[in-house]
Amino acid sequence: MSDSRSGRRGVAELVSAARDGDPRALARLITLVENDADELPEVAAAFAPFTGTAQVIGLTGAPGVGKSTTTNELVRALRGRGHRVGVLAVDPSSPYTGGAILGDRVRMQDHATDTGVFIRSMSSRGHLGGLAAATPQAVRVMEGAGCDVVLVETVGVGQAEVEVASLADTTLVLLAPGMGDAIQAVKAGILEVADVFVVNKADRDGADATYRDIQGMIGLAPRAPGSWRPPVVRAVAAKGEGIDEVVAVIEKHRDWLVAHDELRRRREARAAAEVEAIALATLRARMGSLREGTALPSLAAAVASGELDPYAAARELLAGLRSSSA
Ligand code: GDP
Repeated sequence: MSDSRSGRRGVAELVSAARDGDPRALARLITLVENDADELPEVAAAFAPFTGTAQVIGLTGAPGVGKSTTTNELVRALRGRGHRVGVLAVDPSSPYTGGAILGDRVRMQDHATDTGVFIRSMSSRGHLGGLAAATPQAVRVMEGAGCDVVLVETVGVGQAEVEVASLADTTLVLLAPGMGDAIQAVKAGILEVADVFVVNKADRDGADATYRDIQGMIGLAPRAPGSWRPPVVRAVAAKGEGIDEVVAVIEKHRDWLVAHDELRRRREARAAAEVEAIALATLRARMGSLREGTALPSLAAAVASGELDPYAAARELLAGLRSSSA
């Protein structure tokens, strides 16, 4: 190990190193996000002037549909178009942190010598605001470090994944034949958040049926006049086929978002989710200290003995929260 100074760089130094393209500084900053570190407000403030313009692409789908393979191919295609690309693989259930999972290293190998790509996985176990706060903050870090496209890949098709995917400018949902996942997608509420469907493994039997199923479901979903109808693209990610089409529909969707003032609306919705999650986490932390101190126990005793009604006690508690934030 080197001396402690190199292991504990200050925020200003980390931010400036990340802006110069130092991948270690970028990784360290994302670890701070993951752990909800005390330095985060400083990190966010330092990056604020450099954020707000990157294209954020969400990618989700059941395990095994080909998300990593597709992400890898998309990175290649986007690099070919001159973009600096960040990949954030978010696993809501993963016990692993610190970008140490095998998948990262395997995937990194493909782009190992390319300084225009940054790949990092993230779990949110340490983050009080959960994925809703942690993901946009990590996106901001990648963006601040010069990534003009950030791919957010989520593992699985549960509620948490849908929530993360819906924070993107453009959300891709991957399906594959024979997984019954068109139905699953509807159940998980994915139909509502998907901007583009990709039927991957189009080389497999049943791909046409999956394609028809999803087209049918899109056709049945209620849609306001003039709204975006999610296109369905066939791909064989393992052979790089269909990836240019996927990039083309992403670009088309972005143009549509801009033309309909939807990009601004989505970004404001993302910022709102982020601010709300941070505020709630702060409240929860303050609430915790009230619970452990004397405030809540003494109010609880008053309510239990009939001295005070629970609404009056809650009002008093909230007043205490407000004064502690002053
Ligand atoms: P993930 O779990 O969604 O990230 O899926 P992976 O990208 O790890 O892919 C799961 C498996 O499907 C791997 O063995 C891939 O090589 C394979 N795979 C990915 N894309 C295709 C494809 O287009 N066709 C076929 N036949 N296999 C694919």
